[in-house]
Amino acid sequence: MKVLVINAGSSSLKYQLLDTNTQEVLAKGLCERIGIDGKFTYKAPGKEAIDAKDVAMPTHSEAIQAVLDALVDPANGVVGSMQEIEAVGHRVVHGGETFASSVKIDDKVMAALEECIPLAPLHNPANITGIKACTKVMGPDVPQVAVFDTAFHQTMPPVAYTYALPYEYYEQDKVRRYGFHGTSHKYVTQRAADMLGKPIESLKLISCHLGNGSSIAAVCHGKSVDTSMGFTPLAGLPMGTRSGDLDAGILEFLMNKYGMDIKEMLNVLNKKSGVQGVSGVSSDFRDLGSAAAEGNTRAALALDMFSYGVKKYIGAYAAAMGGVDAIIFTAGVGENDAQQRMAIADRLEFMGVKMDADANNVRGKEAIISAIDSKVKVLLIPTNEELMIALDTAALA
Ligand code: AMP
Repeated sequence: MKVLVINAGSSSLKYQLLDTNTQEVLAKGLCERIGIDGKFTYKAPGKEAIDAKDVAMPTHSEAIQAVLDALVDPANGVVGSMQEIEAVGHRVVHGGETFASSVKIDDKVMAALEECIPLAPLHNPANITGIKACTKVMGPDVPQVAVFDTAFHQTMPPVAYTYALPYEYYEQDKVRRYGFHGTSHKYVTQRAADMLGKPIESLKLISCHLGNGSSIAAVCHGKSVDTSMGFTPLAGLPMGTRSGDLDAGILEFLMNKYGMDIKEMLNVLNKKSGVQGVSGVSSDFRDLGSAAAEGNTRAALALDMFSYGVKKYIGAYAAAMGGVDAIIFTAGVGENDAQQRMAIADRLEFMGVKMDADANNVRGKEAIISAIDSKVKVLLIPTNEELMIALDTAALA
């Protein structure tokens, strides 16, 4: 089935057209600066690429139209007509407690998505706009499916998702750990079971999604039982520019000292913290590696804090699950940064993790990077959220 996968932001829209039978990407690209001055890119194997500025895109509807025009273009398109696109899969950030799996979109689902807006006020409205734009441009008969970042983690038990706050905040306001990157954690843990040749129901896995945003998930017998992100994606590990967990008392101290309101404080925590904030160099691990190699001690500290943070989660989640069969590395840092992987696994030999330095010298492709006699297998698995979204969409459409 040919499925169009859409990831709509407030002023951007990423798209991929996939064939779920062959798992091939037929075309992909990005609409940016929607509502401003419209930028459009399109890439399809063997076809002329598009990289256009000043494309009229006052709303997401024109952006979707531009995507469809490119896909059906007689010279450089990849489908004969729009009818060949059988379904659309949308990445939706927050499904709250309502959605524990992907769902075919209808009026009832749209209403429930609107109800989830307070939980993700920046992201969910953009996702909803993307869905409405597809309905408007493609018509109501093309099935659309919502695939949630939070859904995979809905299997967490209360002991993992409850915050130690007055319980009314959970009951009345749904303040709890939700977790994110669920589509990625689901995809790589399924692939891990395939690579290990064992049913996922028999495995205890720790999935490390380490990118610009990072999260770790404990996946026991195929179900997420804990994860490092929380009510929002600000929690857990230090990230590119996000602080991760910190003592909430720091907020009051800094807000008083520098006269910041909560919006300014959150801007610091989301945009100016993490490895960027500590190093003062960059949020990109490649820049940090170069700076550390040249003797920049703050860049080295930021890298060490990151690997130390991941290591602590691995220890915690192995304890939570009563063991671990395999650790998975994925996303930009996890797939590409052999040094970080080595630093994270260092001193985990006590729990049966033994790396193979040569096997670890690999980038961006599936590999077993632990030693043959390692009790706990360590796997590198490139994530593929779009494929996961397309497969869920094809199953439900
Ligand atoms: P993601 O959010 O998954 O796209 O990951 C993006 C991050 O991956 C970038 O900010 C980089 O820090 C990191 N990254 C990408 N390539 C490399 C590489 N070759 N070595 C180290 N880090 C990398």
